[in-house]
Amino acid sequence: MAKLKYSQAELDNHEHYIRNRIVKALCKRLAMLSSLLAVSDILPNGSSYQGTKIDTPCEYDYILPMDMSKNNKDVVFTRIPYRSYALDVNIYGDTFTEITQLFSKLTHLDSELFRDHTLNSRTFVRCILLQALDKCLSELHAEGELVYKGLVLLDSKLEKESPKFNEVYLHSQEHGPSIQLRVGGPLCVTDIDMGFCLKVPGETLTQDTFYIALLSPPFLTHWIVSIYRTPNISNMDACHRYIIMALKYILTKLDKQRAFNSFSLTTLVRYHIENECDGSAVEQSIGKCFNDVCHSIARLQYVSKSDSPTELVSWGHWLEDLMNKDCPGIKIFRRGSYDNSEPVFPLVIYILNKLAKSSSGVPTVQDIQTQIDMVVKTCKLEAWRQHIIITLLRKNQLSSSEQEDILSTEDVYDLRVKYNHKNDTLFGTGIVVINTQRIMDIIGHQYESAPPNKDNLFVIHDHPNTGFQNFQTSSIKFLP
Ligand SMILES: [Zn+2]
Repeated sequence: MAKLKYSQAELDNHEHYIRNRIVKALCKRLAMLSSLLAVSDILPNGSSYQGTKIDTPCEYDYILPMDMSKNNKDVVFTRIPYRSYALDVNIYGDTFTEITQLFSKLTHLDSELFRDHTLNSRTFVRCILLQALDKCLSELHAEGELVYKGLVLLDSKLEKESPKFNEVYLHSQEHGPSIQLRVGGPLCVTDIDMGFCLKVPGETLTQDTFYIALLSPPFLTHWIVSIYRTPNISNMDACHRYIIMALKYILTKLDKQRAFNSFSLTTLVRYHIENECDGSAVEQSIGKCFNDVCHSIARLQYVSKSDSPTELVSWGHWLEDLMNKDCPGIKIFRRGSYDNSEPVFPLVIYILNKLAKSSSGVPTVQDIQTQIDMVVKTCKLEAWRQHIIITLLRKNQLSSSEQEDILSTEDVYDLRVKYNHKNDTLFGTGIVVINTQRIMDIIGHQYESAPPNKDNLFVIHDHPNTGFQNFQTSSIKFLP
């Protein structure tokens, strides 16, 4: 299914460009700026190096251990009591002086870099690393090595940032424990996560597996303990890697969005292996494994109504926490939060899983691809239709002819323009109910090349004016 769009030589060339022309060049420049910022290694991390890479090589993760802590008695790590995942990094002597000088050279911001001798990881990112990277990228730009487009908030302006070849944006905030670049690579626009970290001395397990102190995400001042594992010793079996690749393939059919990516999908599969997998992840059980993973994705955004299980209810926010497996205490998705909330992908996964379970015989690759395209298109359209209907109903601005018009408009773009929905955020304004049986019916009809029948398009909006409180929680249940 994950048919390669590019040849191995093209992919190698792309990776070579990302690693050498961008990451390595930047690291070299950082070392010239200050020996404190030198990194000893550029370590591959994430799916691009774990054998779950699919046709669009649009994400690369690197772990970059900084030399600062290497054989340096000035740097002392202290575990924080009651927080097993957290570390304080205390700096003394000449290193303390050098960091303080570098800080005043790079920024005029009034932030606390040290409390006593404890290095604030957040200030270190914002006032030292980001400023240093901004400076280095500007230098590389001035020398014609690349085209630097500046320090920008990448999340909020996704559509505007589509760098051309050799153009680079630097994300102005932390991206989890990493710093992010968006680069126009030889094959496609590529996000690079640079995980600057300190190797924790004395806690080296093996040459391929060791403890690192990662920068912590916003609002925390300490550092996060994690274990780095060389990707090629990743112990995930082929069956589960196929599942990740299938999910990532489906993801490429959706608009670029930030919540679901190789990292969050790999994390979900790792939890499945740990908590649900019956251990016989061989050919015969891939269906059960896939089913379990699909449900764990759907459960993040939807519950089903117990009196009508084919209707899925969403509030647009995350219904469960998803914890980072390697950084205990760090949440990838936060329960109750609308941040990066993405209801279309879980819906697509839910429907595809239902179709997979109900199909008989072995479909061809062509059939599967056609089916995925159809499901993505239908789910996206239905989600937008329901979102617009509910939004207008809530304002008491929906006439029956408009409702009919919304339900018969076949193009998401036309729908959004017509009803003035410029904001990309779907749902998030209250309850939206999706009737999955209707989606199955629409797909069934189209799949047999029959013209879509207007009567089969669903009209479902149970009490749209009710809020969470009025919605009987007894009438809904978590997906099985
Ligand atoms: Zn499994």
